[in-house]
Amino acid sequence: MTIPELEGLMAEWGEPKFRAKQLFQWLHARRALSFDEMGNLPLSLRQKLAGRAAVTAFTTERKLVSKLDGTIKYLYRLPDGEYVESVFMRYEHGNSVCISTQVGCKMGCSFCASTKAGFVRHLSPSEILEQVYAPLRDTGEPVGSLVLMGIGEPLDNYDNVLRFLELLNAPEGLNMSLRHVSLSTCGLVDRIYDLADRNLQLTLSISLHASNDRVRDEIMPVNRRYKIPELLKACRYYTDKTHRRISYEYSLIRGVNDTPAQAEELAGLLKGMLCHVNLIPVNYVEEAGYHSTGRAQIYAFQKILMQHGINATIRRTLGADISAACGQLRRTAIQRPAKETD
Ligand code: SAH
Repeated sequence: MTIPELEGLMAEWGEPKFRAKQLFQWLHARRALSFDEMGNLPLSLRQKLAGRAAVTAFTTERKLVSKLDGTIKYLYRLPDGEYVESVFMRYEHGNSVCISTQVGCKMGCSFCASTKAGFVRHLSPSEILEQVYAPLRDTGEPVGSLVLMGIGEPLDNYDNVLRFLELLNAPEGLNMSLRHVSLSTCGLVDRIYDLADRNLQLTLSISLHASNDRVRDEIMPVNRRYKIPELLKACRYYTDKTHRRISYEYSLIRGVNDTPAQAEELAGLLKGMLCHVNLIPVNYVEEAGYHSTGRAQIYAFQKILMQHGINATIRRTLGADISAACGQLRRTAIQRPAKETD
């Protein structure tokens, strides 16, 4: 609940208005895990809250720490027994958390582990938020940025994601600027227009992964609904409205989307747009059988884009030793719920 909503609740309960802000601060600035801790609230209110509400908390089912780069992967168990995963990454410019927005995913991208077992349910705003709060509590370190690039399609859980952003951004809570948040989507065009009209300061990332509709239709079923020209039109609208540069993600899959001709084609698509291309060596997912393009060919692909004046970087792999890519850990947990020692 936002502060105005909590104020409404407090009024209903016959409590003074200022209790709403106190409660909000306990939940979102001090990140309390129980109502008992909220020392400046009267005992009667704490009891009432405990009887009628719950603070969202997860059980950490597994925690894996990379020996290579200190990346931490968390597998959380939700109160209904579902699993969700998020990743805490350390960069030179600060810590970042990659969070999930749904349990499973409907989108069916052929290279993605998160969608293989289908869709289970949306995450609530507080379940998305808790993936930021839990590592803050666990590591005691600050979090400078967030990426909505874990399990799920954020724009398919639009209302909850927007509410999450509002809570994240609240000055009385974590007070994180949306400039430090990236939202990644496979391209739900209608929602991109909605988001553009909100004019938020977040960075939009588009999972493009193909330079033409033939390849994209094959690897991303969403493309059968919204073709590339329609998607890019929505992206242009987004940039016109927000003046924010869009980031395009392009996972390189050997023999599928990685030829020099496809790099040229991609450059043609993006020419003149305020954009950045993030080239990602595809992570191996068993069912898909895709393999990453080799290093030399990735550099060649990047060079072609750069020659056309398109800014392109190659994503660094973090947590390679701990299955840190999206969906990999949950997938293991639901296939083989055995307890392992890490
Ligand atoms: N549903 C959203 C966000 C989640 S996926 C989206 O599609 O953008 C985060 C990113 O990882 C997306 O760009 C997705 O396409 C990419 N991805 C998924 N599986 C991958 C794999 N096996 N290798 C590399 N990138 C992958």
